[in-house]
Amino acid sequence: MIKSKEITILSFIWLLIFPAGIYIAYNYFPSAPLELVNIGLLFLLLFFTMLLPLEIQKVTITLEKLIAFVVFFQYGLFTEILFTQFATLILLFSRGALSPVFERFFFNSIMFMITSFGSAFVFHLIGGSIGMTDFSKLFIVGIVYVCVHALLNNLIIKVFFHLKGMNYSLLSKGAIWDYIVTVVIFPLSLALYFLYLNLQNKSIILIGIPLIVILFVIRIYTTSNKLSEQLSHAAVIGHELANHLGFDEVLETFLEKLQDVVPYENGFIVDVRKGSQLLTLKSMESGIYNNKNNGIVFHSNLTDIDGIKKDEICTYHNARELKAIRNIQFLNHTESVLIAPIIHRHKTEGFLILTSPEKNRFNKVVHKIVDILTGYLAISLVKARFFEKTIEKSERCGLTKLYNYRYLEKKLDEEIIRFHTKDISSLSVLIMDIDHFKGINDTYGHESGNDLLCDLSSVLQNFVGPEDTLARYGGEEFVLVLSNANKEFAAKTAEEIRKEVERTVFTVIPDLSIDRTPIEVKMTISIGVSSIPDDSESIKDLMRNADRALYIGGKQAGRNKVGVFGKEYVVTL
Ligand code: GH3
Ligand code: MG
Ligand code: MG
Repeated sequence: MIKSKEITILSFIWLLIFPAGIYIAYNYFPSAPLELVNIGLLFLLLFFTMLLPLEIQKVTITLEKLIAFVVFFQYGLFTEILFTQFATLILLFSRGALSPVFERFFFNSIMFMITSFGSAFVFHLIGGSIGMTDFSKLFIVGIVYVCVHALLNNLIIKVFFHLKGMNYSLLSKGAIWDYIVTVVIFPLSLALYFLYLNLQNKSIILIGIPLIVILFVIRIYTTSNKLSEQLSHAAVIGHELANHLGFDEVLETFLEKLQDVVPYENGFIVDVRKGSQLLTLKSMESGIYNNKNNGIVFHSNLTDIDGIKKDEICTYHNARELKAIRNIQFLNHTESVLIAPIIHRHKTEGFLILTSPEKNRFNKVVHKIVDILTGYLAISLVKARFFEKTIEKSERCGLTKLYNYRYLEKKLDEEIIRFHTKDISSLSVLIMDIDHFKGINDTYGHESGNDLLCDLSSVLQNFVGPEDTLARYGGEEFVLVLSNANKEFAAKTAEEIRKEVERTVFTVIPDLSIDRTPIEVKMTISIGVSSIPDDSESIKDLMRNADRALYIGGKQAGRNKVGVFGKEYVVTL
């Protein structure tokens, strides 16, 4: 809404200023007769200087002023206006990533119009005239003219920024480069001007052609410099990724670091499931990480006609081109999209999707970098997955696949920290021990005993909440850690578990007898319960108390019982 209002105001001002400016410049400002061939050559020169901008310290500089000044000294304000206005048009079409096109056009047009007028006015005021031949005089009025030109230019930008509520310093890097360029090219403008007086159009050969060649060479140099800079940056990112071993960490590091090399608005790392289903693993939307996709919707599975290629990078440069992507919908305003496959061992494991609200954001140079980086990403992800699997294995019991003692210890240490930092207000443990398991082993065999341990694990799993941890403590003992659960809740849960195990009919295929028909087996367990902060405030005491409750309130009280640790006694439920 605000944007369109801005454009309406700008276009209104433009309509007020532009035709009137042209009229006044044509009728009331001094001019000289136009030499058409010379005008054509100067125009060509302008065109090439616009197409070959210089990039210095991230500031883009075009040398159109060099020609504009010559045109002014030679032909007057009217022609100069035509040249600079054309320059704004060329600028608009030659450079990508110009988001508010109309705003920029109207603003630039108005700015150049005012600048042209203001500086021409001062030029004539201090005695300058069109086509003057006195070098010293033109040098003096000329330098005033170009200084006013540069100052006015930046002053108008400052006013415009101010109206938009933004800040623009007349001493900013961009402004200072503008002054420098203006002052440095002024002698060149003078040279071209005086050469023309002597040599007419041959002057273009002497100054124009070398200028274009120099600009061209600089352009090639900066492009290859930029590429090698990005490549070395990519190598740094590769090292960074290699330093991270967690899967999530790798994804986040990648999305974060990528932004330094390939600026984007929203980035998504998408997994390909079952060969064709797309699922976001991690996204960075406007600088915020997410595990879900907020700004992107996958409509259907991958097919051959949806504008996503499994083996090469695809880029889309505007909203119209985006229509080719059939199964992805971008919820935020999106103009440019890059989709790069993440390939490992010739298999497309996923995609990197980058979006931007600006047009023409992702060019060919970006392709190379992204290609290298997704290669690093693929390797790092495989490594991270392997690493996480190894960790997972070392933290699980091989038989029941429950967490093991090692993990339990780590988890309890984490939980007690959470308790002390008031992340949670209580912590309870249930120690569970199968009653007379030795007898079961002796009756049905050790193998069947193992099967029963697994079956019991499955029963216990049903009582594990998202924050809780179930571990095999050793032998036929299990521990359930109930995070943020008080003693009352823990005792209730223990009683439910005890009853559920009592109710459950387990089946085993006895490995001792020849007859291997399944046999129904009943088991019971005894449970000891203790809580923090009710009974103690340390993990060591918590476990010892639960153990005592198990033996006194569970086993000694006759088994198949829940013992709850109390301050002075053990209560049997
Ligand atoms: P209680 O009611 O007092 O707990 O009696 P219990 O027989 O269960 O207790 P005890 O501590 O005397 O014996 C535990 C038995 O559990 C001993 C061992 O045969 C069995 N056991 C421990 N670990 C495993 C295992 O991994 N597999 C099998 N099959 N049996 C195991
Ligand atoms: Mg035991
Ligand atoms: Mg036992």
